[in-house]
Amino acid sequence: MAFDADYGLHDSTLPDKNGLFGEFGGKIEHPQLAIAMDEIEKGFHEIIADEDFIKEMKRLRSTYIGRPSPIYHAQRLSENCGGAQIYFKREDLNHTGAHKINHCLGEVLLAKKLGKKKVIAETGAGQHGVALATAAALMGLECEIHMGVVDIKKEHPNVSRMKILGAKIVPVSRGAGTLKEAVDSAFEAYLGDLENSMFAIGSVVGPAPYPEMVGYFQSVIGHEAREQFTATTGGLPDKVIACVGGGSNALGLFSGFFEDASVQKVGVEPAGEGLDTDHHAATMTKGVKGEIQGFKCYVLLDENGEPAPVHSIASGLDYPGVGPQHSHLKDEGLVSYETATDKECLEAFMALSRLEGIIPALESSHAVAYAMKIAKTMSPDEKILVNLSGRGDKDIDYVLTKIDVA
Ligand SMILES: *Cc1c(COP(=O)(O)O)cnc(C)c1O
Repeated sequence: MAFDADYGLHDSTLPDKNGLFGEFGGKIEHPQLAIAMDEIEKGFHEIIADEDFIKEMKRLRSTYIGRPSPIYHAQRLSENCGGAQIYFKREDLNHTGAHKINHCLGEVLLAKKLGKKKVIAETGAGQHGVALATAAALMGLECEIHMGVVDIKKEHPNVSRMKILGAKIVPVSRGAGTLKEAVDSAFEAYLGDLENSMFAIGSVVGPAPYPEMVGYFQSVIGHEAREQFTATTGGLPDKVIACVGGGSNALGLFSGFFEDASVQKVGVEPAGEGLDTDHHAATMTKGVKGEIQGFKCYVLLDENGEPAPVHSIASGLDYPGVGPQHSHLKDEGLVSYETATDKECLEAFMALSRLEGIIPALESSHAVAYAMKIAKTMSPDEKILVNLSGRGDKDIDYVLTKIDVA
């Protein structure tokens, strides 16, 4: 398919011509938006078969993002757990501090190729907004970020970052003033300017072609990881583990290992304050088949059949839906989905900080928490590879309100 051996989605995570992964996903019905989505899809398939584009992506990956991100053997953490060896894929060391830059660069390069002047997106905690504003600054495109007024107040450092990077922030005050309203507002702005702008989604969610496109750009994580892991350890990991919000960093990691049946893939969702409360965002574990924002997936619904208000200590995992590929992978039994609570997440956050000198994002800490738990049940010659999707600088003040470190 593509020229680039570092990228690529396995057949089990590619859509059919209707944008469906099994019964999940799908295309948008709105006629004007459908035309715009077709333009993006066509452009995407063209660029990934274009040698010059691949070359440019490779150059930016190594000289701008700082790829390949290393694989690190966390010896003290492993010893402390007393079981399997735990390794990390260090996406936290990427420029901007997380995996999101991998697909934002791809999306902005595509926007430029399509002759667009502007990228438009929503952001919740501001992580996607910052990564997109970074890529837009690099490529000389305008960037418009829609953000709920409640989130703007909560996520002040990211708002400042986006402003410094030159992005225009559109405050959204309607409804609850959070992510869901920001999505609606961003889509309306996009509809008003389809000619000059491109919508840039922040995970493997939304209508076709976004799950395929974002998954493709993130698959570099898994392809790199497999090569690095076999080169340094002489074999494959027994388990690969990643946190799942929309599912982009997890799909990225798993993409390197779908040919390897011996490698168990585990996605970790937020159990929040507990699976038996209403305060979690464990879509796969507790959700039903439904629809959210124009695509079919597992979703947590309220009593009226609307996407439920959900909770996670990690705002990047605080989403009532999940990507269509993951919904399909669950039904096919190719990935298992587990959970970690807020409490377990905070414990993992502190353990990794104190034992390894690595402060992880609260999102990533969910994967670390599950890895620490399962490692104890395994033997010291077994190996776990965890995707450390981002660094925790953004979370330090919040964590100090929850944990007494004195
Ligand atoms: C946004 C984010 C996530 C969640 O998004 P996915 O699409 O599920 O990967 C996880 N980790 C970090 C650090 C994030 O910023």
